[in-house]
Amino acid sequence: MSTSKKSQKQDTRLAHAGRDPARFDGFVNTPIYRGSTVLYPTLQCLEANDQDYSYGRLGTPTVDALQTALAELEGGHATLLTPSGLSAISATLLSFVSSGDDILVSDSVYRPTRRFCENVLKRLGVATTYYDPLIGGGIAGLLTDKTKLVFTESPGSQTFEVQDIPAIAEAAHKRGAVVIMDNTWATPLYFKPFSHGVDVSIHAATKYIVGHADAMLGAITTNKATRAAVARTHDELGLCPGPEDVYLGLRGLRSLSVRLARHQASGLEMAEWLAGRPEVAQVIHPARPGDPGYALWQRDFTGASGLFSIVLKPCSQKALAAMLDGLTLFGMGYSWGGYESLILPFDPRSYRSATTWQVEGSALRLHIGLEDVEDLKADLDAGFARLAKA
Ligand SMILES: *Cc1c(COP(=O)(O)O)cnc(C)c1O
Repeated sequence: MSTSKKSQKQDTRLAHAGRDPARFDGFVNTPIYRGSTVLYPTLQCLEANDQDYSYGRLGTPTVDALQTALAELEGGHATLLTPSGLSAISATLLSFVSSGDDILVSDSVYRPTRRFCENVLKRLGVATTYYDPLIGGGIAGLLTDKTKLVFTESPGSQTFEVQDIPAIAEAAHKRGAVVIMDNTWATPLYFKPFSHGVDVSIHAATKYIVGHADAMLGAITTNKATRAAVARTHDELGLCPGPEDVYLGLRGLRSLSVRLARHQASGLEMAEWLAGRPEVAQVIHPARPGDPGYALWQRDFTGASGLFSIVLKPCSQKALAAMLDGLTLFGMGYSWGGYESLILPFDPRSYRSATTWQVEGSALRLHIGLEDVEDLKADLDAGFARLAKA
């Protein structure tokens, strides 16, 4: 007896969602479809547009496979892919605003999201108000009849504030505002946006879904009510990701659960080890008891990824450079979510406006990859020794 899709566990769906081998001569993976033109067999079919595919930009079986799988895993109505996480964000924002509207955006949002609001949206006559990510139901005090949407990202970029998404969604919906969430950190596996009141969920699939630092990809998943608005903007902006990148997203997705379990365990172990280091003033990891975000993380999330931050005790720039420049396993560079460990200094003081970031030492964001944690500790241990010596 075969089980129904609905009764199957998440890991089973991760292996099977969006796949139809019988359609592709038995091949397990949906092939890479490249193409612009799709031929219609008859004039009648052309005029009625009576076939599944009409033009390369508007979808292919490869794109459909990943869209179907992501919509199912997120618990949403439908997913649309875009060429990057940022284009998923900008297309979503553009779907709901017109000149004269206001929007509310979390102060700890991914910085390029903020830039899009401050440049493009501002030029189009849309005003952005940034709010404290920890505002919760207090967001009711900022909502007006002109507020079209509330943009959330939880945990926040770099500083990992966990937002009370259900409380924010309840207040926003009372005023008719759409709730958007950048759900990249948790992936579709560890936070279910649609059962917490979110209307549109966004992923930089570039990160954990692709998982190997070899492609750029974004995903927008909507509920039923927001589907038409987002689909229309997505179509009108002409957003179509490259076929190889979509294929790499599908390929990454199949191993997401096992990779994340390791990122989570190694991340927590590294966070614990760092918390015991004399050079470290603070560890910011919402899945650690005692972290300000822990209670909400425990209530709403089912897991943690491998991305968190630390604050060092004050040291000179020269000492910091000595530590970072000599690392052999931790690389310095943007993005995260791949198999490799990364470390990146950050300082949000110059651009956050609704909250203040008050720490004395240098802040570092770490992505814990799939390496052996003992080797990662040794790499940082040697880095701390260089820092002390410089
Ligand atoms: C990286 C990132 C994005 C943007 O994704 P790209 O694919 O790089 O455009 C969006 N949101 C968050 C939280 C990210 O970390």
